[in-house]
Amino acid sequence: MLTVHGLCWLCQMPLGLAHWGVCSRCTHSIVLYQPLCPQCGLPAANSRVVCGRCLQHEPAWQWLVAVNDYIAPLATLVKHWKFSQRPELTLALARLLLLRLRQTPLRQKPDLLVAVPLWQRRHWRRGYNQADLLCRPLSRWLDIDYQREAIRRIRPTATQHQLSARLRKQNLKNAFYLEFPVSGRHIALVDDVVTTGTTVAELSRLLLQNGAASVQVWCLCRTL
Ligand SMILES: [Zn+2]
Ligand SMILES: [Zn+2]
Repeated sequence: MLTVHGLCWLCQMPLGLAHWGVCSRCTHSIVLYQPLCPQCGLPAANSRVVCGRCLQHEPAWQWLVAVNDYIAPLATLVKHWKFSQRPELTLALARLLLLRLRQTPLRQKPDLLVAVPLWQRRHWRRGYNQADLLCRPLSRWLDIDYQREAIRRIRPTATQHQLSARLRKQNLKNAFYLEFPVSGRHIALVDDVVTTGTTVAELSRLLLQNGAASVQVWCLCRTL
């Protein structure tokens, strides 16, 4: 992906505001409105009521907000951001999440942002935690407290996508430790891509068991 400062990352048209990274036309194609269940974030008939799947098996969190599915052009941007050392894409992606949050008002406003932690060694290899990068501008723009290391991963976990659903749960059991009091706080748990939801479910349970008043998940992509 060739990029020049001041041009849209996707269509290369000049930008009104260079630091936005993505032009308004491309933004509309990414933040596509489709009815999604407010709790699991999967396609549903109505975005105002919880879907049948959630009524049968309630997720561990109360709300989930995602910009879109893991599909192009959003997936293209996210891949570049994660694997090509492109931290300057952070503001463009955080802004897409902000726009999506503004479209979905049916939530408790959180008072604390928490980033899904990376296991240390993976963090070192890529140099930064994508969830942490998203939390920083969102905390400023929305005026919400952000605790950078509220949750720590206390032992290595095998790469989740290589495991079956049962092994995924076992792999994460007791893998996290809470470093910050969350009692009575409304939490937004931030991650870049949510696939099976096993990790955010484990973290939501940890936060709620420690007295959090509510937990919502914010992510760029939710694989549908
Ligand atoms: Zn564009
Ligand atoms: Zn649902």
